[in-house]
Amino acid sequence: MGLDPGVHFYNSLINNLIVSVETKYIFVTGGVVSSLGKGIISSSLARLLLARGYRVTIQKFDPYINVDPGTLNPYEHGECYVTVDGHEADLDLGHYERFTNTPTTRANNVTTGRIYQSVINKERRGDYLGKTVQIIPHITDEIKRNVKLLGNTGKFDFVITEIGGTVGDIESTPYLEAVRQLRWELGKNALCIHLTYVPYLRAAKELKTKPTQHSVKLLQQVGIQPDVLVLRTEKDIPAGMRRKVAQFCNVDPEAVIQSIDVPTIYQVPLTMHDQHLDEIVLRKMGVEPKGEPNLEAWNQFLHKLSTATEQVTIGLVGKYVELQDAYKSINESLFQAATHLDHKLNLVYIHSEKLNEANADEKLSGMDGVIIAPGFGQRGIDGKFVALKWCREHDVPTFGICLGMQCMVIEFARNVLGLPEANSTEMDPNTPDNVIDLMEEQKSISNMGGTMRLGAFDCRLLPQSRVAKAYGSTEVSERHRHRFEFNDEYRARFEEAGMKCVGENPDTHLVEVVEIPEKRWFIGTQYHPEYQSTVLNPNPLFLDFVKAAIAYRDEKK
Ligand code: GLN
Repeated sequence: MGLDPGVHFYNSLINNLIVSVETKYIFVTGGVVSSLGKGIISSSLARLLLARGYRVTIQKFDPYINVDPGTLNPYEHGECYVTVDGHEADLDLGHYERFTNTPTTRANNVTTGRIYQSVINKERRGDYLGKTVQIIPHITDEIKRNVKLLGNTGKFDFVITEIGGTVGDIESTPYLEAVRQLRWELGKNALCIHLTYVPYLRAAKELKTKPTQHSVKLLQQVGIQPDVLVLRTEKDIPAGMRRKVAQFCNVDPEAVIQSIDVPTIYQVPLTMHDQHLDEIVLRKMGVEPKGEPNLEAWNQFLHKLSTATEQVTIGLVGKYVELQDAYKSINESLFQAATHLDHKLNLVYIHSEKLNEANADEKLSGMDGVIIAPGFGQRGIDGKFVALKWCREHDVPTFGICLGMQCMVIEFARNVLGLPEANSTEMDPNTPDNVIDLMEEQKSISNMGGTMRLGAFDCRLLPQSRVAKAYGSTEVSERHRHRFEFNDEYRARFEEAGMKCVGENPDTHLVEVVEIPEKRWFIGTQYHPEYQSTVLNPNPLFLDFVKAAIAYRDEKK
């Protein structure tokens, strides 16, 4: 028997009421300069609240017009991160997951492009009933709707929303207006943390707080009074100076917190907790903090980090090696794995455009393990083949990821199967041996945005494979981002010659993992395991790779 519609309506009202009363919203804005690490502060606060038993998620609003960052190259925006549900996302979502150990989704990353696209679609459908569609209220309402989407699921006690860009940017204005309205609507259930920079003038030997004061004024001008200020600094800011900032910016003195440079981002939750950021936030939102956050596992990781003395050297072969952020998730996965294995990571970037037969010995012989990076297009690809041939012949632990795995297959075809023109049709559409080719469903696609094979897919592993042993399982799920695939027509020839296809998609039978079992550790994955590696749960494949690199280093000694 169905419920009386009136009761039904009442119940849903109550449910919504409970949800909207319970979920608390924390906004993180930034001022003075960009790249201050709002993502790290948001992630650190999330870690502390999680360690207090709350359910927390973090989302990022990016003010650019691209619908998602999938079409941006790494020079523009660093690495493109991929969520389980196949959203191409800002790299900050990687930090969120690494700190919180919780998967994010499409709802955790929204851009201005997406907001406008949705409003324009509604306008075309006629949803606005003849009204003039404007930034206020229509764009701001759409922003607010997206802020509340995660909160309204009832799954989270806290939603932390990071507003990309810097206060004063033209692009950020609608977001700040939405934050202002939400604070007005939500009262104690909303809070604003503003992150600024306090520069140190070497010549004057002085820290300067004026940029912070100006930045807070800009925020106040748009109607937002920050509740907490986090000051990024390279030098300790004296208590008196913090008091001055508090006074000029109308903020409680204890809510002016400094975030001084630390050796690792994973220490930031502790420096924030030392200054009571979690307690201050809770009290300001009407919750009395009880006890201490449970940071046992986190501290264990930091302890390993500070006590490790031995070093493992991993070479990363790619074309974006001069960019710190281009291979962010790979760097972090390696770092997490090395730390868990009580080692310091010595990561050496090897520029694939500068690697050739003549210098391969010199550049590669010091490596305990080599990663062949993902990527797109022809540039730097020959260096990847050189590295792979050298590593295969010298039996160095080698890990190919996505394009790196495809290059592994091509190099093997050329130099072992005797197919000198073997290639991916991405690089040579007319290759006689298309060992890597476009997937059938990709052939008719002309739009570039969001059309790759994206997100988490199941993979079935051969029980006797090294990969299955590494995972301790024959069923895994990892995230993808590619258009091209291993060409199954060549499978038997590869297997006969010693490169085994040890992982495949259970539904489509696409080859996802290749391995040369007779080598120490020579594995390529079509998927990106680096998107699923966190401080508390390092990815098993990275752990196994670094373990193999350590063993190889010891053998070489
Ligand atoms: N360019 C390759 C493809 O599209 C690999 C992509 C990647 O490395 N992420 O299939």
